[in-house]
Amino acid sequence: MNDPRSRIPSVDALVTSRDAAPLIEEFGRDRSVDAIRAAVDTIRARVSAAAAGGRLEEWDDRVEDVATYLGPAREALEVADVPSLRRVVNATGVVLHTNLGRAPLAEVAVEAMRAAARQYTNLEFDLESGTRGSRYAHCVSLLTELTGAEDALVVNNAAGALVLAVNTTARGAGIAVSRGELVEIGGGFRIPEVLERAGATLVEVGSTNRTRLGDYRTALMEQGAVAVLKVHRSNFRITGFTEEASIAELSEVAQGAGVPLVHDLGSGLMIDAEALGLPAEPRAMESVAAGADVVVVSGDKLLGGPQAGIIVGSAVWIAKMRKNPLCRALRVDKVTLAGLEATLRLYRRTEQALARIPTLRMLAEPAASVRARAESLAERLGVEGVSSTIVPTKGAIGGGTYPGVELDSWALELDGGSGAESLATALRGGDPPVIGRIVDDRVRLDARTVLPGQEGDLVRRVAESAARSLPQAEGLP
Ligand SMILES: *Cc1c(COP(=O)(O)O)cnc(C)c1O
Repeated sequence: MNDPRSRIPSVDALVTSRDAAPLIEEFGRDRSVDAIRAAVDTIRARVSAAAAGGRLEEWDDRVEDVATYLGPAREALEVADVPSLRRVVNATGVVLHTNLGRAPLAEVAVEAMRAAARQYTNLEFDLESGTRGSRYAHCVSLLTELTGAEDALVVNNAAGALVLAVNTTARGAGIAVSRGELVEIGGGFRIPEVLERAGATLVEVGSTNRTRLGDYRTALMEQGAVAVLKVHRSNFRITGFTEEASIAELSEVAQGAGVPLVHDLGSGLMIDAEALGLPAEPRAMESVAAGADVVVVSGDKLLGGPQAGIIVGSAVWIAKMRKNPLCRALRVDKVTLAGLEATLRLYRRTEQALARIPTLRMLAEPAASVRARAESLAERLGVEGVSSTIVPTKGAIGGGTYPGVELDSWALELDGGSGAESLATALRGGDPPVIGRIVDDRVRLDARTVLPGQEGDLVRRVAESAARSLPQAEGLP
């Protein structure tokens, strides 16, 4: 009998076979040829391995069948076509999960972004005069209305906004920052390094736990600082024997010295934290009222909008930032502006913001309501033959905000028969991936961050994954 290895079809024969036509039609000739070649190589290696093991007859029937090669080729091409960036179900209970893309957007924001993406817009066009306008004109009136600032500027993200603010206020000179605020904001974004890259020299003020007004005065009068930066410690806390200068106090000192006060605030909370049942957190409007010249906040943290860096403050400094060439490098795109504007508009009425901005809605949802949703999920899973337990759990706000604050929540706890790790892996493995947490060797799916409309996906994926990671469950009705 012929050695099956000599009967492996040529790549050319496979490519020109009738069965390859749909593959080429769908994925294009070049990619299809490459995939077919890779499949032929794989099968040849496997046939050789079979020969070495004396199991060559296993391939007798299959080696000449085009499906032996076209099947794996199609699979490889399909896998390669799964998008890299995909929707996931966030069942971690962390509302602003930076790794999962932070804030999911309000429906009106999504609609506005869709419309801006599909069509031409007046991005840089003045409709009244019919001449060139400014992209930086959008969102300004909403931001000044909501924060009380004289002017506003939107750029790509808050980290970029801070670079722009520092570069505009202190390039080639010193900027005074408390030693207690020389923080890393996340992803290696460290204040001292950022200041240096933004062209300013750090003038360290005070000590890690105590910085007084007098320390700032010294920095301004004797150490050559031409601006003051206050960084909100959004992702950690200093407690005990501490002292720091307030924005109002700093504003007086800065004004006295004739230098600007920049406040890197971060979170972008726009409503009273009490409405969310959370401890007080400084807001942009308060910084503006207390006299900060430049306030920097993030668009996709507690504001609940798209990724953006929002700068509000004095007309003079905002105008200088707009003219800074760096502004062009940090510019925001039309889709983001559309989404941000729609999100900001919801803030004109707090009840509307709370009901329609997913981040706020999730943060404000009472634990009892989360529990009811977890129970309904458990019931639906029961129908699919998957048993689960409802357990109280702790979620987090996330996004580097509210350090140490936990959200009372409820989760589905799954009985991962062959181990929590393998169940968690299976949950991440399908479409859409479901991301949970492992607590005490069990998989927990926190219902708080499961979005409306995702329940069906969640139930299907859990049932699928439980079947895959529980071999002993196979064969059950
Ligand atoms: C999160 C944060 C930033 C960075 O905001 P991005 O929008 O993620 O760039 C800057 N400063 C503070 C204090 C923050 O909390």
